[in-house]
Amino acid sequence: MNITPDFIDEKTWNKVLNYIALSDEESPYLLIDRDVVREKVSLIGKGIRNSKLFYAVKANPDKEVLKLVNSLGAGFEIASEGELQILASIGVEPERIITSNPMKTFKFLGQAVEYGVNYFAYDSMAEVEKLARHAPGSNVYVRLSVPNEGSEWPLSKKFGVEMEEATELLLQAKDKGLNPVGITFHVGSQCNNVYNWNTAVDKALDVWESAEQRGIKLKVLNIGGGYPICYTKSVVDIASIEEKVNKAISRKFPEDVEVFLEPGRAVIGDAGIFVSTVIGKARRGDENWLYIDVGVFNGLMESIGGIKYAYAVGSRSEVKTWTLSGPSCDSFDVVDRKVELPEPEVGNRLLILSSGAYTISYASEFNGFSIPKTILL
Ligand SMILES: *Cc1c(COP(=O)(O)O)cnc(C)c1O
Repeated sequence: MNITPDFIDEKTWNKVLNYIALSDEESPYLLIDRDVVREKVSLIGKGIRNSKLFYAVKANPDKEVLKLVNSLGAGFEIASEGELQILASIGVEPERIITSNPMKTFKFLGQAVEYGVNYFAYDSMAEVEKLARHAPGSNVYVRLSVPNEGSEWPLSKKFGVEMEEATELLLQAKDKGLNPVGITFHVGSQCNNVYNWNTAVDKALDVWESAEQRGIKLKVLNIGGGYPICYTKSVVDIASIEEKVNKAISRKFPEDVEVFLEPGRAVIGDAGIFVSTVIGKARRGDENWLYIDVGVFNGLMESIGGIKYAYAVGSRSEVKTWTLSGPSCDSFDVVDRKVELPEPEVGNRLLILSSGAYTISYASEFNGFSIPKTILL
């Protein structure tokens, strides 16, 4: 594996190869390059005035990853008591935690309030009532439905309300003794369409102004996550997204607006390289099949939702077209098709690039395959 693949930072690549050469760790495992995380945390939000970063824990909740992000001064976005407990165990102050899941379980809400978390999203009357009862007086922001076209992992059908209802919900929250502080949205994960943010900011402005006309002064615009990373195709870069978003916000919102960002994938995705082993090869019909020890169920779940990873193998043999499959007995466990790779030998390593986000956090022990370890470099 002495050729640096196109879609990876050369320093990261060298660190990974060095680790593999010296370690006797059994595959599969996920390596995380700390320097990439540091770089992303310092980059994200740089282009947006008065912004704060809250790392979306669900992208990768590994304790060492969270400690690292914590040491960089970022905040966290969480949705469950499990995520809260890990943050509590590493001493993250409640002021640095927000929750943007508009539908919270009673158990989570209870524990979040007890811990001192004081920023909650909502998008229904039922949630207003739940919050008024179990988190009285807390800061709340309404989730707006916005276009998700052009994102690989759309989310807007599940959550969010239209503008009129959003204004109504802000008024209802105030009526019930909550403190309506702002508006949030999510353009969809791995969003490669910069106009989604523009449309979303415009919609948010509309709600912001109608709330103001009806006596509610907001202060927070939470633009969610969705920044894309480069898997196998180039994507809009974060600096250009932020330049556009920042322009739209500064032109239209009050000067003292606080902007919250909740990136998950963009913080941790590129920092991760999965190390797997080729466990088998077969010719089936006119297809070449390659079997590796990590698959859809123990780490590469997003591959079935359209994420196409870049791979690297340590072979200089003839390049062939492969169907790449995980180790389980389920026919759903096919990671990729039409992958061009030099033919590896059984027992060789196969590396999966940019796999730090939504991999281990999705992994199950289906069919008895353990959840791979995460190792920080
Ligand atoms: C998942 C999620 C995020 C993170 O999204 P990315 O696409 O990983 O940046 C942020 N906010 C909320 C509310 C989410 O559900």
